[in-house]
Amino acid sequence: MMDRVYIFDTTLRDGEQSPGISLNVRQKLEIAEQLAKLGVDAIEAGFPITSSGDFEAVKAIANRVKGPRIVALARAIEADIDKAWEAIRNAEKPCIHTFIATSDIHMERKLRKTRDEVLKMTEAAVKRAKKYAPDVEFSPEDATRSDFDFLCRVLEIAVGSGATVINIPDTVGYALPDEFGKLIRELKAAVPALNNVILSVHCHNDLGLAVANSLAAVENGANQVECTINGLGERAGNAALEEIVMILDTRYRSLGKKTNIKTEQISRTSRLVSTLTGYQVQFNKAIVGANAFAHSSGIHTDGVLKERITYEIIDPKKIGLTESKIILGKTSGRHALKQHLEDMGYVLDDEEFEKVFVRFKELADKKAEITDDDLGAIMADEVRAITSEVYGFESLRVTSGTDEVPNATVKLTKNGAVIKKTAEGDGPVDAACNAIGKATGVSAKLLFYNVSSITGGLDAQGDVTIQLDIGGKKVLGRGVSTDIIEASARAYLNAINKSLTK
Ligand SMILES: [Zn+2]
Repeated sequence: MMDRVYIFDTTLRDGEQSPGISLNVRQKLEIAEQLAKLGVDAIEAGFPITSSGDFEAVKAIANRVKGPRIVALARAIEADIDKAWEAIRNAEKPCIHTFIATSDIHMERKLRKTRDEVLKMTEAAVKRAKKYAPDVEFSPEDATRSDFDFLCRVLEIAVGSGATVINIPDTVGYALPDEFGKLIRELKAAVPALNNVILSVHCHNDLGLAVANSLAAVENGANQVECTINGLGERAGNAALEEIVMILDTRYRSLGKKTNIKTEQISRTSRLVSTLTGYQVQFNKAIVGANAFAHSSGIHTDGVLKERITYEIIDPKKIGLTESKIILGKTSGRHALKQHLEDMGYVLDDEEFEKVFVRFKELADKKAEITDDDLGAIMADEVRAITSEVYGFESLRVTSGTDEVPNATVKLTKNGAVIKKTAEGDGPVDAACNAIGKATGVSAKLLFYNVSSITGGLDAQGDVTIQLDIGGKKVLGRGVSTDIIEASARAYLNAINKSLTK
C-alpha cells in the first residue's frame, strides 16, 4: 500500500542504551506486550550478542509476543547473526537486523576495513541472515556521511543478497530535513531495487531534528520509521513514536499517510515506559507531556467548550488520555483487585498477586480512592522488584524533627533472612538511605533526586526517581509510596538491587 507507513519501535534496543536504563527480562516483556497492543509493525527487542541478559530478553519476547515482527540486532559478523537467530527463531515473524558502517570515517577509524571488504561483509552477512530468517533488515551505519555512489553499491548488494528492509540511519543526528529527504529521493532513483523492499529511516535527535528528518524521509518515499516511545535513545534520543504517529494522523489530509497504531494506547504506553525505565517525560513534551493538553483540564464553562476546538488540534481521548477513574477502595477484596489488574493487562501468579494485594491494602489504608494510575504505579514497582531483587524491602521506621538528629531503621530481606540496620543522617531521607547502605554494604553517591506525585491531592502517591553512582556506574532507581521517605528508600534500594544484578 502506497499510503502506509510502518512503525518500527526500538525502545527496547536503542532506547535501552540511554544512560542509566537497565531493564530486566520481565520489564522488557511487559513493554513488548504493550507495544504489540499499541499496534507497532516491528519490535526491535535487543542486541543478543552483547550480553546474556539481552539474549534472554529477546528470546522471551520472541517466544511470547504475537503480532509485530520481532527484530534482533547483529553486526555483520557470523557470530552475531547466529546468536540473533538463536534468540528469535521461535518468533511468529522473526527478523534479523544486520548493519555495517559505510562512511569513510567509520570504515577507516572504527572498522579498519577497505570499501571492498565492507561490500564483501555486507553480502556475506545478509546471505547468512537470509538462510535463517525470511525477513532481513540491513543498515549502512552513518549513511548520511557516506559517499553516495559507494552507499548505492552497498544497498544494491544488500537487496541482491536478500534484504527485505533497507534502513537509512542518520546515526550522529547531523542531517537537516531537506538534505535527508533529498538523500532518500536520490537513493530511490539511483537504486531501483529499493522500490521492492521496505525503505526505513532511523534518525537521532542531537539537533532536535529526529522527527522532522523522519517526516522529510516519508514525504520523499520512505515507508518505515524507526522510533522510540518518549523519544528515548542514545544521547539526545531517537524520533519519538508518539510524535510521528500523531503528526501523520492529525495532518492526514496534507500528508496522506497512515499507520496501524491504535492511538488510544499511546498515553498508557508512554507512562509504562517512563515508569519502568525511570526516565520521566518532560512536562512540555509534545503529545505525552503532562502539559500537552493542560489548557483543556478543569475548564467547564460553556463558552470555553466552544473555544476548545480553536486551541486543541488533538482530542486528548484520541491518545487514551481520560480522567483517572476511581476504581477501588478500602473494602475492595482480592477478587475485585485481581479482576481489575487483569482488565489492565497484568497477569500475575499467586505469589506475585499476594505481594501486590498487600501493597494495595497498605495504600487503601492511607488513601480513600484508588485510581488506575495508582495501581499502575504499584504494578510497575512490583514488576521492577519481581525478578531483580537481591534485597527485599520489609519496613522502614524514621524519627526526625526540628530539634533532633534524623534516625532511620530499615528492615530488608535477603534469601529469607531479615537484616535490620539503623543509621543517622542530615535529614530523614538521608538517614533512610544510610541505613540501606549499611544493610546492603553498598556505598553509593547520590547524583540526582526527584519527587513527583502520581495523582493530585494531599494523599497522592509520591513517585521518586533517584540516580546513583555505584562504583563509577550510573544507576537509576524508582519507588512509589504515599510516604515520600518510604518512596525514596524504595527507589534507593531499587538502584542498589539493579547494580547487584547487572
Ligand atoms: Zn540509533
